[in-house]
Amino acid sequence: MSGQWQGEVFETHEISLTDERDFAPKRHLEYVQMLTQQTPRGSRKWRAGVLGATGLVGQRLVKLLANHPWFELTAVAASERSSGKTYAEAARWHLDTPIPSEARNLVVQSLEPTLDCDFVFSALDSSVAGAAEEEFARAGYPVVSNSRNHRMDPDVPLLIPEVNAAHLDAIRVQQAQRGYSTGFIVTNPNCSTAGLVLVLKPLADIFGLERIFVVTLQAVSGAGYPGVASMDIHGNVVPFISGEEEKMESEPQKLLGRWDGRRFVDAGLGLSAHCNRVPVLDGHLECVSISMKKIASTEEVREALRHFEVDPEIASLPSALLRPIEVLDDDNRPQPKRDVNAGNGMAAVVGRVRECPLLDIKLTLLSHNLVRGAAGAALLNAELLAARGFIPRRGKLSSSSPQRSERNVVTEQVSS
Ligand code: NAP
Repeated sequence: MSGQWQGEVFETHEISLTDERDFAPKRHLEYVQMLTQQTPRGSRKWRAGVLGATGLVGQRLVKLLANHPWFELTAVAASERSSGKTYAEAARWHLDTPIPSEARNLVVQSLEPTLDCDFVFSALDSSVAGAAEEEFARAGYPVVSNSRNHRMDPDVPLLIPEVNAAHLDAIRVQQAQRGYSTGFIVTNPNCSTAGLVLVLKPLADIFGLERIFVVTLQAVSGAGYPGVASMDIHGNVVPFISGEEEKMESEPQKLLGRWDGRRFVDAGLGLSAHCNRVPVLDGHLECVSISMKKIASTEEVREALRHFEVDPEIASLPSALLRPIEVLDDDNRPQPKRDVNAGNGMAAVVGRVRECPLLDIKLTLLSHNLVRGAAGAALLNAELLAARGFIPRRGKLSSSSPQRSERNVVTEQVSS
């Protein structure tokens, strides 16, 4: 398929897997593995920009985009503190692996919607994300956001592909209502909501949900950099995270609800959240009690979680796991230190499934706040958008807008 955007010809990519849904499990797995190795139709990768590329979530995105089979990083943007510097100069790099070579010499841009890319991820601080994301969408860029600003907008999909891919139908309504052409905004949920809702999904489908009571123990990296002052968190627990309980009590309603063609209809759950900051680097642990519409034994709940399998369209995306929930049987798991990187950080890890004397069952879950709860979630959202033909390929910008530092490219070539 092809079309025109601001005078530029673009191609879109569509895959149809409807004929493949009856695959037996083994063959299905082979099929999924084959698909994820392929470059999408059109051979050229989609060019991705990252707004807020220098922050904790932005750095994870930059790392995940290195060697991505469908996307290449071509633009980075951040605040005035960083703009004009190379990415290597601007980012206070926090990850164990070096800055990817693709990113080192990119010149950090300001938040003008003139970036040399087909779409943008937004990992911007929420003080600027709202307006900046709208400007990029209005200028024709698909915006895949981590920030809270537009999550609950009535025409913006709040997306977890394994949970509510059908909500993407709202994009066309958003574009029509806001007068966007090819641009739009799609968001991923708050970092602690992401793991919770992934685990609730199979229980909602099989048993139906009524009430959820959750207590979180959230890592310091959830607060960005520099985040919580060391003197406040060292050897301590802070029983308050501004706005977090409100997000955890509202976002699951939208995620587990439905899009009726005109608006999102809430799931109608009873939800209560207590959120705490704990001295852990990465990984949000959550203690959850759940009441369900159908009576189920703990073994049935454990099996429902263990066997939760995403459909072939989602499983074919490069960052997806066929089974995104891992169930552990040891009484003392999951633990952030041991389990945070399960499934490359994209799994929700569940343990301690047992009866609850107040509601029906209780369990403990863990998910990586910066991967499943942020960068990995956004990447998976972008993969689904690309696979469904929502990301047109834009023309390249002229060479008068340098977005890569030639000086440093030369330096690097000489020194290597
Ligand atoms: P962070 O480490 O504080 O990074 C913030 C980013 O925003 C930096 O790139 C910063 O650029 C940029 N920025 C700040 N003020 C700006 C301005 N005035 N103009 C342009 N850029 C500006 O935060 P983070 O943890 O990566 O979080 C990023 C977003 O994702 C936030 O909205 C957050 O709520 C959300 N989120 C975070 C997590 C998590 O676990 N951390 C999870 C889910 C969602 P400079 O470096 O140039 O200042």
